[in-house]
Amino acid sequence: MKICSGISETRAACRDARASGQRLGLVPTMGALHEGHLSLMRAARAQCDAVAVSIFVNPTQFGPAEDLSKYPRPFDRDRQLLEKEGVEILFAPPVEEVYANSSASAWVVVEGLSEKLDGRSRPGHFRGVTTIVCKLFHIVEPEAAFFGQKDAAQLAVIRRMVRDLDFAVEIVACPIVREPDGLAMSSRNAYLNPEERQRALVLHRSLQEVRQQFQGGERSAAKMVSAAQKVLAGEPQVRLDYFEIVDPNTLDPVERISQETLVAVAAYVGATRLIDNLVLNP
Ligand code: AMP
Repeated sequence: MKICSGISETRAACRDARASGQRLGLVPTMGALHEGHLSLMRAARAQCDAVAVSIFVNPTQFGPAEDLSKYPRPFDRDRQLLEKEGVEILFAPPVEEVYANSSASAWVVVEGLSEKLDGRSRPGHFRGVTTIVCKLFHIVEPEAAFFGQKDAAQLAVIRRMVRDLDFAVEIVACPIVREPDGLAMSSRNAYLNPEERQRALVLHRSLQEVRQQFQGGERSAAKMVSAAQKVLAGEPQVRLDYFEIVDPNTLDPVERISQETLVAVAAYVGATRLIDNLVLNP
């Protein structure tokens, strides 16, 4: 695996990897890798000739009161995991390499979508995400990029950026990888103490409740939301941020489930903000 910390070095390595028509796949991450991340690398490996991974805890997508400084950075462990997965290129730049003047003045903004779901609770978050993903696409020039369905709103925002700005990148969405008890894997799960870890299961349970209602023939979003809220109320120490039933492309609320629909939840378990979702398909 070639490990690059500089942009020009990474560009050259990616150019070499793409030489003679090889298909290069990119998996952007913030590190602290778990099976969810590794599933993206495996999908990239299955669909591409070479795989590039980025590890970058992107400061511009964190709010001032968020966990940027304490975000886990177990670089040696991550590197070993990536070696095992047979990843060809690892781009792990220092912040100064990516944001030369300590902060960005050119931004990529997907208006509208960036203010919905997580964007509503985390102002500026998606602007940071689209800006870094755009930069990574320019540096790596991948044919395909792999993202987790876990971050469903992020996926919608990135798809819209790619469509509206004519990026020649195929966006591939990969299913949510869960712990055996249903908790969606996340680097932030490491923040949870054993009690919080148990309480966090209520997010998955609330989604399961909606799935059951759906399977029983319920199609009213309002009824499903109120059933889910009852489940969530069973864990009063978990503070709900949002529970929404929306169109997966526009992120606008739907009243009845008549086509593919995203059911998304975000909640604070202690100080840790967790998200999860499921897609219903009538
Ligand atoms: P992060 O390191 O949290 O920025 O995540 C990097 C990528 O991994 C994003 O595309 C996430 O959606 C994806 N990802 C994170 N957790 C999971 C999971 N449990 N299952 C599938 N993909 C995931």
